[in-house]
Amino acid sequence: MAKATTTIKHILTSTPHHGTWFAANQALFNRVVSFYFDVIQSHIIVLDHSNKEALTILETLTHATKRNPSPVMPLSKIAEDIPAYFRRAAIHAALGSAHSFHTHLTSWKQRKEKAGIKGKPFHERPPVPPRSWQKAAILYQGMWKERTKQSIVIKVWTGACWSWIKVRMTGRQLPVDVELGSPCLVCKGTRWWLHTPIERHVHNPGTIEKQMTTHAHTSLCAVDLNINENLAVCTVQTVEGTILATKFIRGGKRIAGFRKRQLGRIARNRSRTGIMAEGQQDNGDLWKKIRHVDEKCAHRISARIVQFAQQHQATILVFEHLGNLRPAKGTYSSRSNTKRAYWMKGRIFTYAKYKAYTMGMLTSRVSPRNTSRECACCHNLIVRYDAGKPVEGYMPGAPLAFCLECGMKGNADRNASLVIGQRLIARYHPKEKPQTLRRVSKDTGVVVSQDAGCEEGPSILVAGHGESNEHGTAHDVRFRMDEPASDIPHQLRFLF
Ligand SMILES: [Zn+2]
Repeated sequence: MAKATTTIKHILTSTPHHGTWFAANQALFNRVVSFYFDVIQSHIIVLDHSNKEALTILETLTHATKRNPSPVMPLSKIAEDIPAYFRRAAIHAALGSAHSFHTHLTSWKQRKEKAGIKGKPFHERPPVPPRSWQKAAILYQGMWKERTKQSIVIKVWTGACWSWIKVRMTGRQLPVDVELGSPCLVCKGTRWWLHTPIERHVHNPGTIEKQMTTHAHTSLCAVDLNINENLAVCTVQTVEGTILATKFIRGGKRIAGFRKRQLGRIARNRSRTGIMAEGQQDNGDLWKKIRHVDEKCAHRISARIVQFAQQHQATILVFEHLGNLRPAKGTYSSRSNTKRAYWMKGRIFTYAKYKAYTMGMLTSRVSPRNTSRECACCHNLIVRYDAGKPVEGYMPGAPLAFCLECGMKGNADRNASLVIGQRLIARYHPKEKPQTLRRVSKDTGVVVSQDAGCEEGPSILVAGHGESNEHGTAHDVRFRMDEPASDIPHQLRFLF
């Protein structure tokens, strides 16, 4: 079993009083963390112990009890009556920071030593302990109670006393099949949030390599991300190459239109007001609007991709690496629009990756080279064209694809998505790598049937093909079946 952790965020409906109290609580928490960080610095040996042992040692050093009436560095100097759970949360936070700081320091010392031995100059500055502490206060069990869907009762330092207060919260509900971590109070701008980490135990399907090479039933979901109407095209295929399902996630035009309108407004505003002051954000609200819509869209699309993959029991998601952004020509709004659409592709990938992981799916990326120009059936170059236009040439972004070699006809984005999936399969079955691309000349003279399907490669001819005798497993033969359809006309051409 593997663990996947995510954070569920609830916004707290708090009064101005609450805000002041939460801030006082956080300030106290950080004072205590800072104090414990100093204690650890002066008793560095603590870091060699496990967190549990370190906690006991640090409490003995700082906390007065009947048995231990005069600790070396009393916490009571900082504040009296700190609840035990508050103190422990702070100790763990300080231990985390101390471990991180010392790991960095050790590796810096090693680098310095290495440079000294080699006689090279070493100008890197050593890491420094945190100068200011901005940690969110963690609420251990005992610091909160009576949690319901809409409210929670928490114990906070109000600046004058410790008090239990009830706060209302809104946000999505906590899932049922998860382990709850300790929530923490986070301040963003003027609002306070309750972040609750949740841990989900997911079935560990093993590395991608293992899944691809040992399980014949593994299916993968290949995703082609676009900046046109079809924002994402997903196909589920098995490791053997059988296509199980396809899904088009549309809505690209709508979001592009929205973005373009806002960018146009920004451009007009700018032309009206003249040169902006340097380093100052203009049109703040409009930019915010664009950012929010982009963000929401990326989350929605990535969630739908993962949902679709899950419905069809896919355990691997495959994307292509993002290519370079080709600078678009045109007005300011259309250039910025393309740029933002491209950024959104990156965001969809990032979000889909973590969303998939919490569902026990792994994500991989393949080379983007010619994914949209290659035929998914025979790997020759395709013709891409608009509906109602002549079937010739390659029109980037056109919706339809046609392969002159094997007669494959269909949606160009779906074809690209299939190619992406096949690339990952080819990575773990290197013998099955697609052949190098050959440019299709218009005068091949090959008669192609319009509805020749991808899986209908003539198996008898395939078996006679040179390489297929090299490996004898049924697995390999199956792979070959959809590949060499293109070879036949070529061979015929060379022979005769
Ligand atoms: Zn083809």
